[in-house]
Amino acid sequence: MTERHTRVLVLGSGPAGLTAALYAARAELKPIVIDGMQPGGQLTITTEVENFPGFPEGILGPELMERFRTQAERFGTELVFDQATAVDLSRRPFRVSTAEHGDITADALIVATGATARLLGLPAERELMGFGVSACATCDGFFFKDKAIAVVGGGDTAMEEATFLTRFASSVTVIHRRGELRASKVMQQRALANPKIRFEWFATVAEIVGNREKGVEGLVLADTRTGERRTLPVQGLFMAIGHKPNTELFTGVLETDETGYLVTKPDSTRTSVEGVFACGDVQDHVFRQAITAAGSGCMAAIEAERWLAEEDART
Ligand code: NDP
Repeated sequence: MTERHTRVLVLGSGPAGLTAALYAARAELKPIVIDGMQPGGQLTITTEVENFPGFPEGILGPELMERFRTQAERFGTELVFDQATAVDLSRRPFRVSTAEHGDITADALIVATGATARLLGLPAERELMGFGVSACATCDGFFFKDKAIAVVGGGDTAMEEATFLTRFASSVTVIHRRGELRASKVMQQRALANPKIRFEWFATVAEIVGNREKGVEGLVLADTRTGERRTLPVQGLFMAIGHKPNTELFTGVLETDETGYLVTKPDSTRTSVEGVFACGDVQDHVFRQAITAAGSGCMAAIEAERWLAEEDART
């Protein structure tokens, strides 16, 4: 089993992780970044990013993340294409085991593992994932050319996905459990004005009809007020009901809140373990924006750098 040591180890390569790496690299700490499950993070499965400052014309999510990566590497960040499988934060240096690159020990750890799309929990959902069910319009929209599809959720993600999917689909039905959308006004208006998008209000998906051979053939919807059921003939179902933080590795190790997000000290990225910092969506259930994730990544690197300097001065 190989073992390496680094001053700063970053887990995750979204806007938070790569900004932390950029700042740590410019502080000459030669950080290592473990890419994680989804290299580049959630922006790699989005389309146009219109609200990242500095890009007035907008930029594609994957392209933006490519730029983050190039910038972090320019100053000496090493990216390791792998996943962390276990962490030992009980002593220093901290130890992180990876699937393919052995163990990496680190004086300071920055956790930027992000969040993952939530699913409804229906039995057919996992079975039909990739066979008509998807959690990523950007990845799978193309497969639904001229098909009728549905999107579940009433937030910005649902509006964004529904709008994007109208490029391919013959029609898009947004299924929302209430009579009012959670999405921001601008995203709502865009979706409501789109002639290809229709809405099923006060509805949840009770059943997905279909199988792996034929794909999705329809949905059974339940009215959230009366329980009444109705069918919706669609060939695709996209989940857009929010996210859960990727904190499985840290259960019982780092303090989390009741919904699983890592808890950081007020105005800081410090976690419950000294020398371990958290940034981005893994510790933020409020803002969850690329720009706030990047900002907190910068904070984590600066705090890690200062903490390491204090530790060096002590020994
Ligand atoms: P949100 O948490 O904002 O919305 C989730 C939606 O899914 C809600 O409408 C919720 O309903 C619904 N929902 C949750 N659980 C279920 C369930 N079990 N069954 C049925 N419906 C359910 O998540 P988003 O992913 O939409 O957005 C997350 C954050 O990212 C937000 O801050 C958003 O602003 C941001 N974002 C910004 C974008 C942009 O600016 N370009 C694009 C995408 C996201 P209810 O409303 O009843 O709670």
